[in-house]
Amino acid sequence: MRGGREIAAVTGASFELRPGECLALIGESGCGKSVLASALLGLLPRNARATGRAFLGDLDLLAADERTLARTVRGRRIGLVPQSPSAHLTPVRTVRSQLEETVRELTGLRKAGLREAAEAAAERAAFPATHLDRHPHQLSGGLAQRAATALALVGDAPLLLADEPTTGLDRDLVDRTVDELRRHADTGRALLMITHDLAAARRIADRVAVMYAGRIVEIAGASAFFGAPGPRHPYARALLDALPERAFTPIPGMPPELGDLPGGCAFAPRCARATARCGTLPEPVGGVACHHPEEATACSN
Ligand code: SF4
Repeated sequence: MRGGREIAAVTGASFELRPGECLALIGESGCGKSVLASALLGLLPRNARATGRAFLGDLDLLAADERTLARTVRGRRIGLVPQSPSAHLTPVRTVRSQLEETVRELTGLRKAGLREAAEAAAERAAFPATHLDRHPHQLSGGLAQRAATALALVGDAPLLLADEPTTGLDRDLVDRTVDELRRHADTGRALLMITHDLAAARRIADRVAVMYAGRIVEIAGASAFFGAPGPRHPYARALLDALPERAFTPIPGMPPELGDLPGGCAFAPRCARATARCGTLPEPVGGVACHHPEEATACSN
């Protein structure tokens, strides 16, 4: 950052994602979810550093060079539904042209069948055929989102990173989009869905990872997390309790600045269970990084 300041946007993230599985990564805006996805694809800004290992099969994504990532990983082995679809679409070309180019590059299909394949890709993401000849600036946010999702699905990549794929969509389209993403996983591929839409996460996920202030604070099976016994980390439980259909209780306070994190547990200033012990950083135990996790009982709803 300016002035030589360093910020740890993501720290100690550790998880596995298996073929056929959907992991939903949830948490408030700015907690590091998208930075994690960008690191996996080698798309961090030049002034950022990523250390550790992130294996996709035998390939360590964090050690791979740009040529390998560009030619063999992005789009082919890892598809991306970007967080800001309008910014990722090429502004001077129609959606059809971008879809046809992507189909050509990723499937090898040439002239015959190209148009039909592009239209089928649009249909998968509920992008209307009547809008295929429009340019990105002629699309609403929701349509741009669907165009970006269609592009990401073309290669049927073994791993799909979907970063807030339901932004700007009404509930019916949210359901349709996440169902299509779920089908991607159901055909033996892996899906990492980054979202703050907990209803969408509940609909699609096998497991849930909760991030707070750059750290994964809980990983749990989705049915246990959303049903009984419920989340065990106080922040994860507070996220669910903030939902209108549950207790509708807002989480007090604000998330900390990543450049100004407290020494121990970053959630301590907002946590009703905090004690002096929370002045030291809790290590994950049984998938939960908390000194005083909630009992494994049903959460309020
Ligand atoms: S470690 Fe302490 S402050 Fe942090 S979430 Fe657990 S109880 Fe709350």
